[in-house]
Amino acid sequence: MTESYRCWAEVDLHALRENLAQIRALVGPDRRILTVVKADAYGHGLRQIAAVLMQSGTDVFGVANLQEARAIRTVGKGWPILMLGACLPCEVDLAIREGVMVTISSMEEARLFSAAALAQHEVALVQVKVDTGMGRLGVAPDEAVELFRAVQHLPGIRITGLYTHYSSAEDDAEFTARQEQVFSGLIGALATQAPPLPWIHASNSAGLLLQSAGGCNTARVGLLVYGIVPKGRREIGSTVGERFRPALSWKSRVSHVKTIAAGTPISYGHTFVSPRSMRVATITAGYGDGYLRAASNRAQVLVGGTRCAVLGRVTMDQMVVDVSGLAQVGPGDEVVLIGRQGAAQITTDELAGWCDSISWEVLTNITYRVPRLYRGGQAA
Ligand SMILES: *Cc1c(COP(=O)(O)O)cnc(C)c1O
Repeated sequence: MTESYRCWAEVDLHALRENLAQIRALVGPDRRILTVVKADAYGHGLRQIAAVLMQSGTDVFGVANLQEARAIRTVGKGWPILMLGACLPCEVDLAIREGVMVTISSMEEARLFSAAALAQHEVALVQVKVDTGMGRLGVAPDEAVELFRAVQHLPGIRITGLYTHYSSAEDDAEFTARQEQVFSGLIGALATQAPPLPWIHASNSAGLLLQSAGGCNTARVGLLVYGIVPKGRREIGSTVGERFRPALSWKSRVSHVKTIAAGTPISYGHTFVSPRSMRVATITAGYGDGYLRAASNRAQVLVGGTRCAVLGRVTMDQMVVDVSGLAQVGPGDEVVLIGRQGAAQITTDELAGWCDSISWEVLTNITYRVPRLYRGGQAA
């Protein structure tokens, strides 16, 4: 089935289900799970992933924009969806019409929603975001109670949630603890002001693994759903980490093999010149597929279950790797860019490290040219 593909991704839906079950086990029965499916579900394919998550116990989806929210609606109607970014003024009407929960950080935004909702004879569903240290969106903590109260009294608006975002949960225990403390304080202060909110959340994947829940009733997870444990300076117990399995593998093929003499330059700019006679293979993947050019001369791929170094610059559609150590390799052979082959494995984290990048970017960078093939059950 994959024989005709030059570069493709395989998504193991069974792993995805198990990862969600593991998150459920961590979260417990009383907290809810918001699964973040922005950027085409971290490159895994939004509709397919949303369908599986709907079947496996997600409570609410997090998206970056209204197109993503609409795609989820085509898979299943009625699911709560939170748009994590701020709404642009031109998107306000549509957000209300689609019944998407929006994020607000200011009274100006709230007034726009109130006016638009009244005009539509609808109710705008909003979550108030608090900036406890991310510096991107959210109201300052010392203005949050006031904003919350004012928004509560606007006509046409229902506040459904309160949330904040950790900036450095995988790296900085002290700073994250301060963020958690500020947010918990606010939850306490608002508890007396409002009817119980259905969605109160702070933890991203790293926060879920490393912080306590505080007063939150929801965990908001992205990367971990896809089976990748965020890597940072803080130690995450291996017993927890090992419960998660990457859902995505990324593969390509050998298209050409040859022996080169010592002193042969490889690829654009001749950034690699062979120090000895070598056996090299040309691979049918490049930055046009999303394999970062920063991987040039640094990354490894798996061929025949063996790690092979990328030689010279990654080009748009092809790259060259060192297969000198392999007894047998020929056109059509499978190459693993991310995933397992035999006993060997290259993780997304490892590829990200070679590229001075992060797993999130490596995954979301895989382009539309790469077909996503689904294994392990039905998807949308
Ligand atoms: C993307 C995003 C997340 C998910 O973070 P992970 O580290 O992938 O779990 C959570 N919250 C917000 C606001 C985000 O933008």
